[in-house]
Amino acid sequence: MYQRIVVKLGTSVLTGGTPHFDKPHMVELVRQSAVLHGLGKEIIICTSGAIAAGRERLNYPNWPATVTSKQMFAAVGQSRLMFMWERFFEIYNIHVGQMLLTRADVENRRRFLNARDMLNGLLEQRIVPVINENDAVATEEIKVGDNDNLSALVAILAGADLLLILTDQPGLFTADPRSNPNAELIAEVRQIDDSLRKLAGGSVSGLGVGGMSTKLQAADSARRAGTDVIIAAGRAPNVIMRAANGEPLGTRFPALETPLENRKQWIFAGPKPAGRIVVDAGAERALVQNGRSLLPAGITEIQGHFERGDAICIVTLSGSEIARGISRYGSSDLEQIKGHQSDQIADRLGYMYGPVAVHRDDMIVISNQ
Ligand code: GLU
Repeated sequence: MYQRIVVKLGTSVLTGGTPHFDKPHMVELVRQSAVLHGLGKEIIICTSGAIAAGRERLNYPNWPATVTSKQMFAAVGQSRLMFMWERFFEIYNIHVGQMLLTRADVENRRRFLNARDMLNGLLEQRIVPVINENDAVATEEIKVGDNDNLSALVAILAGADLLLILTDQPGLFTADPRSNPNAELIAEVRQIDDSLRKLAGGSVSGLGVGGMSTKLQAADSARRAGTDVIIAAGRAPNVIMRAANGEPLGTRFPALETPLENRKQWIFAGPKPAGRIVVDAGAERALVQNGRSLLPAGITEIQGHFERGDAICIVTLSGSEIARGISRYGSSDLEQIKGHQSDQIADRLGYMYGPVAVHRDDMIVISNQ
C-alpha cells in the first residue's frame, strides 16, 4: 500500500531497554525492510543509538554529563551503529548509504533541496538511506535535537507516504498506561490539539531523547506535509510489514487532505524560529479566518532578535502560536513600524521591502487544524 516509508528506530527499540544493542532484533527489523525492498518499496531508516553505541563500545566510562562527552560518545558510536546496519543489510544483499544531518542542513532552502536530491539519488539506486543526526559535530543551536523531529524532516525531504515511528510503547494512550490501568490506546488522531499535547507531555521514554511529546510534534509536521504517520511498538511482530500494508496498528495520524505546498513544508520543518511577533485580535482574525498576510499595523510586540528572511512564530496576545512564517523585515525594523499603516513604512525606515511583515505565501497558519 505505502511506497516510500521512513522507519524511525528509537534507542529503546534497538536495545530493548538494556545497555546493549539487541542485534537479533535489529536483524529482524532489517529482514522486514528487506522483504519490502524486494517488493519494490523504498525504505529509509532513521536510526538513533549513536550515543548508546559509543557508551557500549567504550565500556560505559564515567565521563562528565557534558555536551562534549555526548559528542565523543557519538563519534565513537556512529561508526559502530553504521557498521551494524551495513552488516545486517548485507545479509540480504542490500546496500546502505549514511546521511548525517543537522538542522543547519535544511535551514536554507538551497541546502534543503541539495539534501533532497541526494536522498532521492540513493533511493533511485536502490540504496537504503540510513540517517541520523550528526551528533558528533552538531552544537545545540544547529541541532534538531531529537530523532522524532529528525524523522519528520526526513519524511518531508523524501516526500514519503508513511512515517513509521517505532518505540517501546504500542502508541499514544488516553493516560499513562504505566500508572493508569484504564488507559486506552488511541487508534487514530485527526486533530492535534492542546489536550492531546498535554497528554503526550506527561510520558517520557527512559532511553532516547524524545518522549511522546516530540513524537506528536513529528507526527504533526509530517501529516501536514502529506505523510501518514504511525506510532507503534518496535517489538510488535512484523510491525514494519504490517504498517506498510496499511493494517490498523498503533496510533495512526492520517495525512491532511490538502497538504502544505512544498515551500511551506520547508518553513514548518526546516528553520528554527528566531523570534516571535505578537499580534492583536484584528490581525489574528485576518490571518486565521480570512487568509490574509500580516501587516505591521496588527503587530503589538516583537520578541527576540531576527533578520529579514528568518523564520518566526506569530503569537496572540495570550501567547499561543497561531502561525509560523518568514519575516520580510528584521526585528529592529519591525520595532519601528509595528502598529503603523503600511504606507508609513518608507517614511519610518527610509526604505521598504513591501507592505506586509509576513506574506501569506511564506506563512503557515497552525491554529485551525
Ligand atoms: N541522535 C541520537 C543518537 O543517535 C538520538 C536522539 C534521540 O534519541 O532522539 O544517539
